[in-house]
Amino acid sequence: MKKDTSNWSARTKAVHAGTRRSQYNEVSEAIFMTQGFVYDTAEAAEQRFVQLGEDEFIYARYGNPTVAMFEERIAALEGAEDAFACASGMAAVNGALVSMLKAGDHVVSAKALFGSCLYILEEILGRYGVETTFVDGTDLEQWKAAIRPDTKAVFFESVSNPTLEVTDLKSVAELAHAVGALVVVDNVFATPVFSKAVEQGADVIVYSTTKHIDGQGRALGGVVLGSKEFIRGTLEPYMKHTGAAMSPFTAWIMLKGLETLDLRVKAQAATAKAIAEALEGHPKLEQVSYPGLPSHPQHDLCMSQMGAGGTMVAYEIKGGRDAAFRFMNALQVCIISNNLGDAKTIITHPFTTTHQRLPQEQKDHLGITTGLIRMSAGLEDSQDLINDVLQALEQA
Ligand SMILES: *Cc1c(COP(=O)(O)O)cnc(C)c1O
Repeated sequence: MKKDTSNWSARTKAVHAGTRRSQYNEVSEAIFMTQGFVYDTAEAAEQRFVQLGEDEFIYARYGNPTVAMFEERIAALEGAEDAFACASGMAAVNGALVSMLKAGDHVVSAKALFGSCLYILEEILGRYGVETTFVDGTDLEQWKAAIRPDTKAVFFESVSNPTLEVTDLKSVAELAHAVGALVVVDNVFATPVFSKAVEQGADVIVYSTTKHIDGQGRALGGVVLGSKEFIRGTLEPYMKHTGAAMSPFTAWIMLKGLETLDLRVKAQAATAKAIAEALEGHPKLEQVSYPGLPSHPQHDLCMSQMGAGGTMVAYEIKGGRDAAFRFMNALQVCIISNNLGDAKTIITHPFTTTHQRLPQEQKDHLGITTGLIRMSAGLEDSQDLINDVLQALEQA
């Protein structure tokens, strides 16, 4: 039996919302590791294809009880009407955009995007006749100039990867809604914990659940959130027929991740802030970028939009790539990888890895320099992390 969770606070929803119990009344969410479902009679099978009931399923590409629990729980947490879980964050971004757009449509997008999101807009959608205008996401004048009466959607990361620029969601949403365009937000860096995206005007919110929602580096996953009409009417038919469904096992990992999300993300954000404060002004650093520091150009916006600076810190080491590599190789606690939002603190050198393929001009524009380090604060003791970073900076 499903409960009315609407007046529960986020922490309570994250533990209980969406729970469906089998006849065994298990405490922990069951993993329904099945591709399909048995019908008692031929008539029942026919009926299910005519009209799917609340607790009925047909095929795991369309839906599954464990996946449905995850979708309901994250929708409750985000304050969205509905959600659709996907195989990865990119399946979610692709599904959200491709399902709503057609040849001849116009999109306005922030330039500072995750590489694969850029590929979908430029390469894939471009090939099918969707035109995208790219703007500096932090500049409202550029959004205003680019949004046209025929613009169908705007797309941006609320906090950008890797340079941590913050886009003014509410203001961009007002501009978009004035022409009837949908606001699609890649909200990974904000996390469901700090996101108020629905009330700030987002129509469609996308998460890579690979990041904070799993938070322990185990599985790829993604989710799209929005109105019932968008999720079931526009997105679901596309996802159902193209096949990027989330596995029930992954959904179970993500459900368990949601239970501890608030505790983890708040602890990681406190650590990120402590690290940023410890590093700001360090003689070996060109600059430290953390939206929770008053020195960040969108600090006030970030605090009103998210109420915190998030779990990511970026800083630029003096001396370029060689100094950055000496620093990374000297770290004892922090690990070198490219995930984020993980329990383990992760260091990335975007110039040579995640953003390697961008043309130099674009790297310059986005501020991806040879000395830039992206750091995802984990759950280790924050003083141990600060000590580790400071000793490694001595080696840079
Ligand atoms: C990781 C990430 C994605 C892609 O998610 P996957 O789960 O790796 O497919 C998309 N957008 C942002 C901002 C990300 O950080």
